[in-house]
Amino acid sequence: MKVIIGIVLVLILTLSLGWGFSGQDERIWSWTLGNRVVLIDAGHGGVDPGAVGKGQVLEKDVTLAVSKRLQALVQQSGAKTIMVREDDRDLGTSQGLLKRKREDLAQRIQLALDNQAEVYLSIHANSFPNAKLTGAQTFYHSDSPEGKLLAQSIQQELNIMTNGNRVIKGTQDIYVLKKAHQAAVTVELGFLSNLAEEQLMATPEYQQKLAVAIYQGLSIYFSKQ
Ligand SMILES: [Zn+2]
Repeated sequence: MKVIIGIVLVLILTLSLGWGFSGQDERIWSWTLGNRVVLIDAGHGGVDPGAVGKGQVLEKDVTLAVSKRLQALVQQSGAKTIMVREDDRDLGTSQGLLKRKREDLAQRIQLALDNQAEVYLSIHANSFPNAKLTGAQTFYHSDSPEGKLLAQSIQQELNIMTNGNRVIKGTQDIYVLKKAHQAAVTVELGFLSNLAEEQLMATPEYQQKLAVAIYQGLSIYFSKQ
């Protein structure tokens, strides 16, 4: 009987510590995310497709797919996720597109505040006139040391997972990074303006890699808190 209780205890401990996690990289123990509140902002949605690739891949679809995979990983680790959206919609209500976009972004910030999120993860995909550019890149507000630490942690894992070599970038120009009340980053998953990367970002396998990398980076960030 004692042996059985012992085995059950070990099993419970193992599961609660997240050793059962079968990701592609098991260096990080997921227990560091317990009781955390993480807002995941899948960029664009609804009337706003975001960037559109040459192969007609829409930014709003890629950001949603990766965000939902990220949500599953973060939830598995015991943390609470607040999702800006879980389907194809925006949060604005006005008819005029510009006004609607402003409402949408303000609602996203408010959602994070109302739910006392500790981290704001904004997920986007890039587009640039030079079609040669590729790679995931993480942005933070240049006045935010927490944002910088979070960005560094995520970028490091993105580079490992995708064989990338981009570096984080501080900026004053991204609305949600300016307005967020918590440690915030914008992850640009890759370039829709590069045909190969566009096609890659549309595959479930690569979407999962990106989600795992962001999740690992988040775990590292919390472990350093
Ligand atoms: Zn975007």
